[in-house]
Amino acid sequence: MSAELAISCSAVVKVYEADKGVVQALRGIDLAARPGTVTAVAGPSGSGKSTLLRLLAAIDSPTAGDVVIGGLQIAGASARVRRAIRRRHIGYVQQRPSDNLFADMPIGEQLRLVARHKGAARSEVDRLAEGLDIADRLGHDPRELSGGEQQRAALARAALGRPSVIIADEPTAELDLVTTRAVCSVLGSLARDRSVAIVVATHDVEVMGAADHVLFLRDGAVQSETFEGRELAVVDSTGRIQLPPEVLSWYPGRRVALEFDPETSTIVIKPT
Ligand code: ADP
Repeated sequence: MSAELAISCSAVVKVYEADKGVVQALRGIDLAARPGTVTAVAGPSGSGKSTLLRLLAAIDSPTAGDVVIGGLQIAGASARVRRAIRRRHIGYVQQRPSDNLFADMPIGEQLRLVARHKGAARSEVDRLAEGLDIADRLGHDPRELSGGEQQRAALARAALGRPSVIIADEPTAELDLVTTRAVCSVLGSLARDRSVAIVVATHDVEVMGAADHVLFLRDGAVQSETFEGRELAVVDSTGRIQLPPEVLSWYPGRRVALEFDPETSTIVIKPT
């Protein structure tokens, strides 16, 4: 199955050694994304989204578990190997539009430079610009573009060289609703046309709506996943299920009685 996946991670744990002590930022995350799909990673601030994206982009290594990108393992890989994997397989889009592009160079020129650097044909730039609806903006510097146009240009830049995965860290966080929608409207078609897996961290319901698959993180674990419109709780590899915060008050003693019905594989959780 993994041969069909653009990117996956299994039982990923990330621990930071900070001045204040040890922070367990991720506590066993599983994720699998096929080419041609959009995955949104959602969750409140501090839930581990950026940490997960840094691992998926091979910027950092997991403390335990593994990330596999284009069939290559990240755990145990040296910084040099991770850099090579990143260059070959990852396109990255940052949150702030101005961090993704040079300020004083027309977008088209920038994209052609990147295409040359990545060994992509010039025609790729035109094809991407057409698909991302920025073809008539190529002669303009970034400051003459809206935030949404800049982020679509950043997606074009990230897609050059045919990476397996495009990672985008809250790419619409600084955009208004109209420009956010313009970015969301191209995510799915970009993923499908280029057979690339797009993984995007977000707080934005518009982005979640544009995704095939949404993972909700809380406290470094996957609390639930939305797949084909259904929200599913996740049973991790150690058997843990994370309950939504709104039902925690049902169990004030934090001890519950479980009733199993093997006939229907049903578990009932009762307060004690
Ligand atoms: P999010 O992107 O969802 O806001 P982060 O991945 O940035 O979450 O952070 C997850 C947890 O890890 C938080 O408790 C944060 O304070 C901690 N953290 C993130 N980066 C570091 C770091 N470099 N050193 C220590 N702790 C970190």
